[in-house]
Amino acid sequence: MSSSDRSLQTVSVPSDWTPAGWRARPAAQQPRYPDEAELAGVVEELRRLPPLVTSWEILTLKKQLAEAQEGKRFVLQGGDCAESFADCESALVSNRLKVLLQMSLVLVHGLRLPVVRVGRFAGQYAKPRSADMEERDGVTLPSYRGDFINQPEFTAQARTPDPRRMVKGHARSAMTMNFVRALVDGGFADLHHPEYWDLGWVGHSPLSDDYRRMVAAVGDAVRFMETISGTALHNLNRADFYTSHEALLLPYEEALTRQVPRQWGWFNLSTHFPWIGMRTAALEGAHVEYFRGLRNPVAVKVGPSVTPEQLLKLVDVLNPSNEPGRLALIHRMGAAQIAEKLPPLLDAVRREGHRVLWICDPMHGNTESTSNGYKTRRFDKIRGELETAFDLHAAAGTRLGGAHLELTGENVTECTGGARELTDTDLARAYRSTVDPRLNYEQSLEIAMLIVRKQSS
Ligand code: PEP
Ligand code: MN
Repeated sequence: MSSSDRSLQTVSVPSDWTPAGWRARPAAQQPRYPDEAELAGVVEELRRLPPLVTSWEILTLKKQLAEAQEGKRFVLQGGDCAESFADCESALVSNRLKVLLQMSLVLVHGLRLPVVRVGRFAGQYAKPRSADMEERDGVTLPSYRGDFINQPEFTAQARTPDPRRMVKGHARSAMTMNFVRALVDGGFADLHHPEYWDLGWVGHSPLSDDYRRMVAAVGDAVRFMETISGTALHNLNRADFYTSHEALLLPYEEALTRQVPRQWGWFNLSTHFPWIGMRTAALEGAHVEYFRGLRNPVAVKVGPSVTPEQLLKLVDVLNPSNEPGRLALIHRMGAAQIAEKLPPLLDAVRREGHRVLWICDPMHGNTESTSNGYKTRRFDKIRGELETAFDLHAAAGTRLGGAHLELTGENVTECTGGARELTDTDLARAYRSTVDPRLNYEQSLEIAMLIVRKQSS
């Protein structure tokens, strides 16, 4: 047992828990596979495949999340709503990494805090849906549930859940991880020089002077560090990066849940930091049962219908020994509701002395449909929810320790607004998401700058 484990000796695996124990509970949002025997065979195959992350990376992240809880770090969690197998290609993966790294540099310099970078990738392939079935022109087929499960095309064949897709998704996740690790280890160094960033949009912002100063400050700091160290700084070139996804598809997650030599307990080795989505967070449900036995740090999405009593019960089940860094609560209330819904939750958790990391997801409470039929989010609402979240935490005596964003490194047009003032008619130009609308490259960097501006005002 390592020294860090010794300090947590009160923490142990619940004695009544097994990785398959969730099967005795109602499991929401699972596909109906036509062939149970084929599913069982796939799970057996997955059980033997190598894991995607290691237990020591997971425990390092847990320590960093504990520090974020204490205000010593800020967490940036971001990526696609839904990854797709087709998007597992080099430019898309490296551009997403690039925007996350650039955002994190803005945050490091502006907040004067180390940033914990967590991608929504390498396994973000299963989606909860509001309806099991979808009807078009009198034809009813199963809803698209993410590339782990079926395909978006509206044909009976594409929509039939196929368990073999889990094996393919595992392989795509491994390729993504491998490429991310190589990029991060190998430098990706010019990222640190804002003179190479795409900053044309800054000129369109009413805050352009402010932004230019911010970017210049990042550049100065990097050059200063390089000057005093004499070479390009190794630790500037090498950035830690963690992965996360919604651990929705339980047969997959169970198959990747492993014991590790010389460590006690069970780790989900498909990702560092799995989360429970809003639609699967029922206290008695299968997802909460599965998550409670993991040693990973875990998160839960908290929506506007959750009461303080429900939240406290959930926190008790998921973190019974009040272990630091174990549990993040990702609130996603919507700009219109956050001021009313969040404060009672903050008060209740603080009053009970629970150690949690609060993260704001300003995306999922702000989704709307346009008259021309697109699912979009307005930049001002995303910004508004995030800024209000900082204020509400400050007023409650709690700490907002991170932001959870759906974004891409591409110049898509899925969310409206931002410095270039994208409108509903711009959406048709480059709308590529198969599920939720993402911030594009420019809008993502703008949000990072707005967080800094908010926190230093
Ligand atoms: C998501 O993160 O893509 C998602 C579905 O979120 P939520 O569970 O908060 O609705
Ligand atoms: Mn989403």
